[in-house]
Amino acid sequence: MIRLFAFLSFLVLSLLATAQEGELPCVPCGSTGRVRTVNQDVLYQGEDNVLFCANVAGNQRRFRGMRFRPCPLCKFPDLAAKAREEYDEGIRKQVEWYRLRQPIDRAFKSRLRSANGVPNSKFSHCTTEHFDLTWGTSKHVMDGKVVDRHGVMHRYVDRLEALCQSMESVFGTLVEERLNLNLVTGPPMAKSLKKVYRESLPEVDPFVVIWQAGKHKGDDRLHELLVHQLVDKLLMSVDLSDDRQWVSVGAGHHFAHSLVESPRVRTGVLAEQAYHDSADSFADIVRQRLESGVSPDFAALSAKAPSEFTSDDSLFAWSWVEFLMQAGHAPDKWQAFLKDPQPVANALESHFGASVSDFLEAWKQFASRPNESSDNS
Ligand SMILES: [Zn+2]
Ligand SMILES: [Zn+2]
Repeated sequence: MIRLFAFLSFLVLSLLATAQEGELPCVPCGSTGRVRTVNQDVLYQGEDNVLFCANVAGNQRRFRGMRFRPCPLCKFPDLAAKAREEYDEGIRKQVEWYRLRQPIDRAFKSRLRSANGVPNSKFSHCTTEHFDLTWGTSKHVMDGKVVDRHGVMHRYVDRLEALCQSMESVFGTLVEERLNLNLVTGPPMAKSLKKVYRESLPEVDPFVVIWQAGKHKGDDRLHELLVHQLVDKLLMSVDLSDDRQWVSVGAGHHFAHSLVESPRVRTGVLAEQAYHDSADSFADIVRQRLESGVSPDFAALSAKAPSEFTSDDSLFAWSWVEFLMQAGHAPDKWQAFLKDPQPVANALESHFGASVSDFLEAWKQFASRPNESSDNS
């Protein structure tokens, strides 16, 4: 506070000193060297949740999103020079970021005409804290309203960042480097996009999620798909051991249940959608399974790849993860457990302090308790 005050006093005194040399404070900029660019706040409403957005960075006529430009009439050369420097640096960053997206935009020209000099691409792009997003859905219904592609992308930024935050609260930091995430609407688009990356942006390692609107109808299904795919991707990034893939499946269901408004949940590829329209919660179904004598085989389930999971496998994986999460293990314990190269049984013992039989015993008690499992659905 004192330093700020000192700085302000210094500024005022400097201005007075300069003004005393015969000049009046510059009227257009009020002696900051900067003037506002036109209507930026209105034009770029909703851009605050991203660091960069192509609709802004690509828009030269709107100063690429710079909220000020150097005062063209400034009577204070030092201030004007400083403002110019900051402005040029801001523009340089926007252009540099935007150039990296252009090979994609050039390869995916849309027939639609653009407004405000933004190129006609089939993709929108932005960069957030955790993601470099390339978004290829068309317009889409959200909360009963039709939203255009750019708007949908911005709405998803909040959802994706919320997922990262929730995951990090359990597992600690998972995204060391920003993840290049691409959403496309079908396998052919995915194939072409990967080709563009290979040929024009070989330094980027793209993660491509395919959303087939006909198969996963509606916004909640898109949200759910992204949650499952990202949980998997982010857990893989900590070198998740092969015999711990049930954690990824279980955590996918956990986060889908806590973040997606009405999760309907795929419960396994082999018996897909077995509980799709069931009114019972996952916790209820797990309890019923246990009551009817079905129980999971830890070694067998750990040996499976998620593509081999049955509905029961997915339910039990979910329930094990819920059980481990409610025990409140610290993120570093989780990460140590996930990537420990020992077999899963040993890793369980080393990091969560339980043999497989103790773990299953305690879990059964947790899962059999009526109305105490933490299923939000
Ligand atoms: Zn934007
Ligand atoms: Zn000025």
